Amino acid sequence: MTDALYLLGAALLGFLAGGIANARIMRTKESLIFTTSRSCSICAAPAHPKEMLPFVGYFAVKGRCHKCKAVIPWQYPATELAFAALFAVFAARALGMWGLVTPDFVASNALWVLFVRDALVACALVLIFIFDYRAFIIPDRITIPAMIIAIICNVALGLPVVSILLGGFLLGGFFAVQFLMSQGRWVGGGDIRMGMLMGFLLGPWLGVEALLLSYVAGAAVGVGLLLTKKRDMDSHVPFGTFMAIGTVVTLLWGQQLLDWYLGFFG
Ligand SMILES: [Zn+2]
Repeated sequence: MTDALYLLGAALLGFLAGGIANARIMRTKESLIFTTSRSCSICAAPAHPKEMLPFVGYFAVKGRCHKCKAVIPWQYPATELAFAALFAVFAARALGMWGLVTPDFVASNALWVLFVRDALVACALVLIFIFDYRAFIIPDRITIPAMIIAIICNVALGLPVVSILLGGFLLGGFFAVQFLMSQGRWVGGGDIRMGMLMGFLLGPWLGVEALLLSYVAGAAVGVGLLLTKKRDMDSHVPFGTFMAIGTVVTLLWGQQLLDWYLGFFG
């Protein structure tokens, strides 16, 4: 029963975080900039008080601006739902529920630190997913604070500092080399910071695994788009969106996947 309450609390926190994120990133014609208020992107009217409620607010106003009746994109409630779902899943992981495994190095009295780390990083990953998908950028003002959170929490959790640093510089270096080789044509500076974030968060082994998963996910979606002729070979791929997915999957199932894979070799 208590576990269920924790999950509910985590989901509510997620809806709230998603609502704040939406107000700051979505309600603007310029998807690149953070806005300070939650207002209609067409008529600029401030949101109706009912609409301020996370997730249910969208349905309370029937998905339309109360003033000009412009359709509110479904991405708003979807973003809020994504935050809530991730918060609940990471709470379940910290509680050892749903077959999710907590990392070996986390002591039982530090599970809340694990939840705080994962929930905060999840906020960053959802934002990176949205920004890179919509605008092909991975903003430093998201990746750099997330890196700092990942390092502080991992040190508090007892992950060896060598492992944290090695992960960050290995994955960041992977993109930095490509950046230098192509003079910034293959990857951008944002990719380097994203790689560092993944490495600082996951350490070298799981970091590389997350990177591989990102490439697999990117290739699968890319082939699908080519087959359905939605894209051609020259289309730009928002790789940050796939790195965000790869990181979440690795946070949740990375160790099990790695153990399963290594099981083939002995
Ligand atoms: Zn309006």
